Amino acid sequence: MSKVHNFSAGPSILPQEVIKKAAEAVLDFNGSSLSLLEVSHRGKDVVAFVDHNIALIKEILGVPEGYSVIYMQGGASLQFHMVPLNLLKTNGKAGYIDTGTWANNAIKEAKRIGGTQVLASSADKNYTYIPKNVAVPEDLDYLHITTNNTIFGTEYFHLPKSSAPIVADMSSDIFSRPINVAEYGMIYAGAQKNLGPAGVTLAIVRNDLLGKHGRDLSPMLDYKVYIDKESMFNTPPVFAMYVCMLTLEWLKANGGLTWIEQRNIRKAEMLYAEIDRNPLFVGTVATEDRSRMNATFLLKDETMEPAFNAILKEARISGLPGHRSVGGYRASMYNAMDVDSVQALVDAMREMERRA
Ligand SMILES: *Cc1c(COP(=O)(O)O)cnc(C)c1O
Repeated sequence: MSKVHNFSAGPSILPQEVIKKAAEAVLDFNGSSLSLLEVSHRGKDVVAFVDHNIALIKEILGVPEGYSVIYMQGGASLQFHMVPLNLLKTNGKAGYIDTGTWANNAIKEAKRIGGTQVLASSADKNYTYIPKNVAVPEDLDYLHITTNNTIFGTEYFHLPKSSAPIVADMSSDIFSRPINVAEYGMIYAGAQKNLGPAGVTLAIVRNDLLGKHGRDLSPMLDYKVYIDKESMFNTPPVFAMYVCMLTLEWLKANGGLTWIEQRNIRKAEMLYAEIDRNPLFVGTVATEDRSRMNATFLLKDETMEPAFNAILKEARISGLPGHRSVGGYRASMYNAMDVDSVQALVDAMREMERRA
């Protein structure tokens, strides 16, 4: 059987060798004759790999002193609630930039908690661009952005100018390119796009921002508790964290963020070049804001969709239909995707042109 090219938006593609190693650990964890699924999270081998996992994140991203790295559950969606609980003072203000569905969900949650201002939005053009030159008030507790808009296919390549700490939802572009962590107050990401399976969420928090909210928080909603207990206040999703560690080892062994960025640029350039060249297709977002992770595009003539879908099926291309709010197609080209899968999609688009 030839390989399936997995363009799923999330949960999404993982490196084959990571999946194999994860499967081995499910059968026999570290030669213990026990499955990783049936051992205590307090066991020495589990504690050791969680420590290694955190160390890899710090090394690969270059996390400076003064930041903590933690794993939590509840997905990025719980972070929409936890971020304002922990970082928005009871009489303070947070600023948000509205760049699509996920940003909107974050805004809704922040409004439940306290003073929340939407400083800019690209809703006027169905989120096909990133708002530029946003005036950010100086007295904000934080400014929240969504660095990659998974559904609409836009990505930030320049951070907004802000004297307030920037909090970034990086669920779908973390580890896809080098970043300067010091430019952020906090970064969070659900694992299931670029890092591992669903069930675990990564956060990197600047320690001096914590403990100022003035609320009586449940320990399960308090970043300080996760930091003090090294992500093990309660039973963490051990298997999901193990797979994240395997993905980080894969990333490091191949050359880390500079390597993956080059590969991601190459994949994105190949696909966008074909979208722009092929007379049947059109991209949906502003050229300068095109995401390297999720490329959104349409067939100019929608009636051709069944024919193109048939070509995709023949080529064993999976996961391409766009989100219902955009329609058309969305090619998610996360870290684990090889260049040959993007080539297969480009070939399918050319085949459509030949048949049209
Ligand atoms: C997928 C995604 C989310 C939602 O993540 P959950 O883990 O399902 O809560 C939030 N933000 C972005 C940018 C995403 O891509």
